Amino acid sequence: MKNLESLIKTYNDFPKKGIAFKDILGIIQDIEVFRELILKMSSSKIIKSSDAIISIEARGFIFGSAISLQASKPMLVARKPGKLPGELIKGNYFLEYGKSSLSIQKESLEKFSSYAIVDDLLATGGTIECVADLIRKSGKDVCGLVTVVELMELEGRSRFNFPVESMLCI
Ligand code: AMP
Repeated sequence: MKNLESLIKTYNDFPKKGIAFKDILGIIQDIEVFRELILKMSSSKIIKSSDAIISIEARGFIFGSAISLQASKPMLVARKPGKLPGELIKGNYFLEYGKSSLSIQKESLEKFSSYAIVDDLLATGGTIECVADLIRKSGKDVCGLVTVVELMELEGRSRFNFPVESMLCI
């Protein structure tokens, strides 16, 4: 996609030594590229075949809510500890630079049958695997992952048995 890579800035040794952090926030400061990106993500077969999308805190929300409106799909959120009220289902995962957990509101997850996961970046795949496990544990289907960036050398997608659509592979 035009200009997408040029809007992503790399910060070495952030947030920890040895991590090349890809800052994708420049994308939402170029409204033409952002619009083109959202149209492309929204037209993905993975999104179209889903009943609803689940976006992941925090940068996943930026893309997820825009896709939700454009594709007319309801959106749920997977959030970090201590952020969501009500009854939750929770899973732990390992990141490229740490360990955390994600929760989804149980009542929301019960409303739909199949979900497309939306996030900003696929690195090791631990985060997405955690969300996919939560969806499946609830007896629901995972249609696939739609992400802005995929870090190919980490081979995150090899952990999944569902389709992945990345707007930029680097
Ligand atoms: P992972 O579970 O390793 O696939 O990591 C996924 C999440 O962590 C993404 O939602 C990113 O926001 C963040 N992340 C992991 N590695 C990087 C990186 N090198 N640059 C920017 N964000 C990253």
